[in-house]
Amino acid sequence: MAVISLYGIGALLPEVEEEAEKVLREKFNLEPRFEGLLPPDATLSRGSQLLADVQLKNILSVKPEDALFVGGITPYDIYSNGLNFVFGIALPFKGFLVSYARLLSDDRELFLSRLRKEITHEMGHVFGLPHCPDPKCVMHFSNSLIDTDLKSEEFCPSCKRKMIESMEKLGLL
Ligand SMILES: [Zn+2]
Ligand SMILES: [Zn+2]
Repeated sequence: MAVISLYGIGALLPEVEEEAEKVLREKFNLEPRFEGLLPPDATLSRGSQLLADVQLKNILSVKPEDALFVGGITPYDIYSNGLNFVFGIALPFKGFLVSYARLLSDDRELFLSRLRKEITHEMGHVFGLPHCPDPKCVMHFSNSLIDTDLKSEEFCPSCKRKMIESMEKLGLL
């Protein structure tokens, strides 16, 4: 089974690691392997808001040879080129970074559902999928938490087909 190496950028809530591993295993046929925590890299940070691209680059630089992809999760708020904030970023066929800073809620199930959506979305990009115009599709771009809450955790039929094709090419199906 293909491995995805997971890293925390800063300490993670225990349920976050658990939920991330579950999504990656069940939806993407990957074997998640938690490799540990990396310190947040303050290069070009805006106070406590980190530049997402720097963190993902750091994760990729320590990727074990046997891992197909890498994934990073952080409690810190993140931004990326030209955007005030992002929920996550991805590099196709390499890896992703997701922040849960803006996903938190007193409603635990709502929080975990948001987390699953954002991880699934970024993993869609890792498998080469673009954004989808269907607001209910998990590959729809989230400009705000309202968009995230509106979309489902699932790929629409068209994105689902693309996912299957990409997973087949990588020998994951
Ligand atoms: Zn996206
Ligand atoms: Zn779609």
